[in-house]
Amino acid sequence: YLKEISRKAHLPACTQDGHKINVEANIELLEEVVAAKDHGAEAIGLYRTEFSFMNRTVQPTEEELYHEYRELAELMAPLPVTMRTLDLGAEKMGRWHPRIDQQNPALGLRAIRLCLRHVDLFKTQLRAILRASASTRNIRLMFPLISGVGELKRTKAILEEVKSELRSEGRDFDDKMPVGVMIEVPSAVAVADMLAEEADFFSIGTNDLIQYTLAIDRVNEHVAHLFDPLHPAVLRLIRQVVATAHKAGIPVTVCGEMAGEPLYVPILLGLELDCLSMNPQAIPRVKNLLRRAQLSECRRFVAEALKMRTAAEIREALQDMVLRVF
Ligand code: PEP
Ligand code: MG
Repeated sequence: YLKEISRKAHLPACTQDGHKINVEANIELLEEVVAAKDHGAEAIGLYRTEFSFMNRTVQPTEEELYHEYRELAELMAPLPVTMRTLDLGAEKMGRWHPRIDQQNPALGLRAIRLCLRHVDLFKTQLRAILRASASTRNIRLMFPLISGVGELKRTKAILEEVKSELRSEGRDFDDKMPVGVMIEVPSAVAVADMLAEEADFFSIGTNDLIQYTLAIDRVNEHVAHLFDPLHPAVLRLIRQVVATAHKAGIPVTVCGEMAGEPLYVPILLGLELDCLSMNPQAIPRVKNLLRRAQLSECRRFVAEALKMRTAAEIREALQDMVLRVF
């Protein structure tokens, strides 16, 4: 059975009723690209670029970043690589950076906020990413923790500035590089229609979206047991994001841990996600589940689940359905 799963890991994942879902990999370090490919990733759906900043004693230079990013793009080409810009702050900080003391780091200076505060650092990374996109043209850009259109516009203005600097230096880059927005703050869900006008794709970061929706600190052991992807509020928010994005004609990925958990596959399928991105080891099993699933049945299940009032009720029905169908 396990052999069968890994033998088919490199084939696309189509449901019984012919619906194709893209299955992609989340990676934190360049070396993991090997595991991603070995496990049948159809793209890098999330490259957490901050990790290569975190282990260093000095801040990496544009040249170093350029070489790292170009190597990754070349190793995956022609498959896409989604570069998530720096999500530093909170528990993730480089040793080269002075400590930021914050009472509530998750609500503090992190991710895109930190990049908008330290524009030079951000520009260095954007230059490296753009330059790395020149030859293979398979890089997609994605901004973390976007909370509204003003912030996205400021971010995109910096991107345009960097592009025109590169142009005036005569440096090549992929001018059509897709730009995506991570949906991980409830406010981003509320204005998703406006964000969709400014984005080529959405990627739902369920780890943070659940943290901020349910007010449960991801790293606080006292409340960890309350963190539940099946909370009706979470499912409603995901449904809302997908509906809004599809109306605007852009695709949606889930790239939080939820996407790699087999039990949640039928729910995410029924919620009409276009793509799931997960740790490489989870890919073969998830692809296998997708192949055994019926989209129509998962849609019906989701319609019922969305009427239920508690996560416990939804979980029980889901486990029941999975036992029956899979
Ligand atoms: C998420 O929040 O779900 C996500 C994918 O980003 P990270 O886990 O790196 O914060
Ligand atoms: Mg996140």
